[in-house]
Amino acid sequence: MKRLLVLFAVLSITAVLGIPAAVNRLSPAKIEKNGTMVHMYSHSTGQIVNLSVDDYVIGVVAAEMPAEFPEEALKAQAVAARTYILRRLTGGGVSNPIHPGADVCDDHRHYQAWISREEMKKRWAIRYYQYYFKVAMAVYSTGNEVIIYGGRLIDPVYHSSCGGAGTFSAGEVWKVDDPYLKGVPCPYDADPDPTRVAAFSMSDIKRATGEDISVLPVAGPRGFFQVLEKTAGGQPKTVRIGGKVFSSTAVREMLGLRSARFSMDMEDGVVKVTTRGYGHGVGMCQYGARGMALKGKDYSEILKYYYTGVEIADGN
Ligand SMILES: [Zn+2]
Ligand SMILES: [Zn+2]
Repeated sequence: MKRLLVLFAVLSITAVLGIPAAVNRLSPAKIEKNGTMVHMYSHSTGQIVNLSVDDYVIGVVAAEMPAEFPEEALKAQAVAARTYILRRLTGGGVSNPIHPGADVCDDHRHYQAWISREEMKKRWAIRYYQYYFKVAMAVYSTGNEVIIYGGRLIDPVYHSSCGGAGTFSAGEVWKVDDPYLKGVPCPYDADPDPTRVAAFSMSDIKRATGEDISVLPVAGPRGFFQVLEKTAGGQPKTVRIGGKVFSSTAVREMLGLRSARFSMDMEDGVVKVTTRGYGHGVGMCQYGARGMALKGKDYSEILKYYYTGVEIADGN
């Protein structure tokens, strides 16, 4: 309610003074300075806590990106996290069917992950002061900066690592395509361990996909697994497992894979799934941001690289 009053006040002032539309569109960041609070549901306590936007963003950066990452990568993460919450707060109301009364929560499966200072102390131990300062500096030094496309706050999705294979366009992973979420190569990806192998029994596969591959002649030329369609970046888009066709993202979900970039082999009756990277692969690649920062790129270059055609705007 308080936020609505502030918003109303800002809009009224804007109307009276006739501030140009370009500035008007950036008013979300202005509201932040006037004391906007984030109402965040905490899964561990079951309570809603009220946080300043800065404190919310600090907790998100601490939770979502390793604090050892270079400062410019942390700053890119801070601007992305700030854009996310301001878009949510100003996106036409705060109705939230998941957690009534809250804008967001601290679970990455629902919104962005967030950790408290207590959790930071546990996670970082002796490095707590060093890392807290580093993360807070990344947040404060980027002021009120947000990412905009066509004058509007973007949906700044990000993922851990593309494994150096390049990012996906949003439309390759989700049904909705955004013009700024285009797949790009990721030459500086600094993921030290991009490829992983997970083993599944044939009954695991049957439980997850409904396909009984134990009855198939696996030695045949078409085998139990086939990539039917690839994305522009050459990654599997649709695959066949046994006699069924799935999107690679559906298989990722069903088997709990690290990414949708995978191949499958069978060895001695065990299905070996080799994945590359970690996460959905859309938007900013965090290990790519790390690599770009190590190459001397700054946070704005990093963000403009992973979000096509965007601008970094100061809300002031
Ligand atoms: Zn939640
Ligand atoms: Zn990458």
